[in-house]
Amino acid sequence: MFENLQDKLNKAIKTLKGQGRITEINVAATIKEVRRALTDADVNYKVAKEITDRIRDKALDRKVLISVEPGQLFVKIVQEELTELMGGEAQGINIKGDPAVILIAGLQGSGKTTFTGKLAAYLKKQGRNVLLVAADIYRPAAIDQLKVLGEQVGVDVYAEPENKDAVAIAKNGIDQARKTGKKIVIIDTAGRLAVDEAMMQEIEAVKRAINPTETLFVVDSMTGQDAVNTAKTFNERLNFDGVVLTKLDGDARGGAALSIKTVVNKPIKFISTGEKMEALDVFYPDRMASRILG
Ligand code: GDP
Repeated sequence: MFENLQDKLNKAIKTLKGQGRITEINVAATIKEVRRALTDADVNYKVAKEITDRIRDKALDRKVLISVEPGQLFVKIVQEELTELMGGEAQGINIKGDPAVILIAGLQGSGKTTFTGKLAAYLKKQGRNVLLVAADIYRPAAIDQLKVLGEQVGVDVYAEPENKDAVAIAKNGIDQARKTGKKIVIIDTAGRLAVDEAMMQEIEAVKRAINPTETLFVVDSMTGQDAVNTAKTFNERLNFDGVVLTKLDGDARGGAALSIKTVVNKPIKFISTGEKMEALDVFYPDRMASRILG
């Protein structure tokens, strides 16, 4: 995860780390390298410039310049700025409501159904009573996939294989949860290979009809800049509450993790790091920043 970025950032910082003194000249050289490490990691140029300008200004502050270990302080500044870039504080999901309704959106192949199963397992572990709803009306295989995952994690799945009305299925699923005393409903929706108008209209209609407590947008982090662009489009249409970054286990660059918060101004709430049901973590920006700095 983030190997390329980690490598380049560390190389950039290394020279400064050993210095007993920070000067405008050696900071400028390091900042240039840090910026390059970020843009190489697919971070949007404007975002990379903003964060490195802030790092430079903080590094040239008098307190840093006269400190005993300016190099260490520099690393701390980079760590703080990376944390801020990724959203600052960790953000939980809203599970208030009777039942609370969580809508899952994203492109096909992004890892939506896998995440839906993982989230159910995660909430079940916390003692919550969960119902999964299969509202992907285009791929019969998606319904089966969700059923298999539901069985695996021990959570019921509501599906209507013959029904082609996603709004009706979502509503019926919520009714079913009420009848059976389930407190959280997670609705897995259809995804297409690319953003298309029909898909957007359908998920907008589902959202309007069920008024979810939480809408999560799932995106494959390995798609880099595309992940950020897709997030932007989905957010404009759905005004989602949070982002789930998947396949972080295969993401050597990290651009999506670093750019999404700035571009869509919505927090990353979960990260998915593998195909197994346990491979889900709450996203902590500070921990991720430490990890990136190795
Ligand atoms: P959907 O079409 O959005 O519902 O995507 P799926 O949940 O079917 O996932 C697509 C593929 O990605 C499947 O082969 C999953 O096993 C795989 N996948 C999902 N999440 C992750 C992840 O975090 N890491 C890895 N390595 N693979 C994942």
